[in-house]
Amino acid sequence: MTDQKRLTELQGDSPDYVLMPRSLTSENGAKELLTVAVIKDAVAVTCDACGGDGKGLYGGDCSDCNGDGDVWKDVPVPWATCKDIYAMVVKHLGKEKS
Ligand SMILES: [Zn+2]
Repeated sequence: MTDQKRLTELQGDSPDYVLMPRSLTSENGAKELLTVAVIKDAVAVTCDACGGDGKGLYGGDCSDCNGDGDVWKDVPVPWATCKDIYAMVVKHLGKEKS
C-alpha cells in the first residue's frame, strides 16, 4: 500500500470505507435487520429418520441421509455470533477518529 493511499484511508476519504457503528445493537437497528434477513449456516445434524445409524427400515441405506447418518440443515447464525464477528472486524479494520 502506498503512503498516499494509506493517508487517504486514515483521513476517511477512501471510497473503500464507509462510516459504520462501533457495535451491533438493538438500538442502532442491527438486531432487527439481522433478524429479518436471517443469516444462515449449513450444519450437519443427526438424521431424524434413522437416528444416525444410516440404516433404512427394510435394510439398505436410509433414504433420508443416504446412509450417512447425518443430514445438512440451514440454521440461523446466533445473534451473539453476529455481534462477535462484527466486533472482531471493527477491532482489526476500524479506524479511530483523530
Ligand atoms: Zn438417515
